[in-house]
Amino acid sequence: MDAQTIEAMKNINTSSVVQMIILGVIAVSTVMSAAKESAQGIINKKLRRKIRKMKEKPLRHDGQVLRDNDGIPYCPGCFDDKNKFIHLTALQANTSGLQLLCPVCKADFNIGTFSS
Ligand SMILES: [Zn+2]
Repeated sequence: MDAQTIEAMKNINTSSVVQMIILGVIAVSTVMSAAKESAQGIINKKLRRKIRKMKEKPLRHDGQVLRDNDGIPYCPGCFDDKNKFIHLTALQANTSGLQLLCPVCKADFNIGTFSS
């Protein structure tokens, strides 16, 4: 250490040491926050990929297009034609099941036989 550095160290008072510690804590906190955001970004990216795959591969059951296990069928016509998930809405219950309507293409389905 040269004389100039020793002189500079003598001039450092307690408050500037505290300031340096605070700046150090802020720097560490910023780095950790960035690392956390990066990890979160990786998780979000994986989730988005999974969601996209689910959308690309809809579950089909008896002609219905289902997704997310919510139990509400989607319109198979709208999915096949425009790759869109449109929930069918209940029109009425009848002897052969439940009559459902697509609010977009207006196709109606019977959930018992599921034919339009
Ligand atoms: Zn439709």
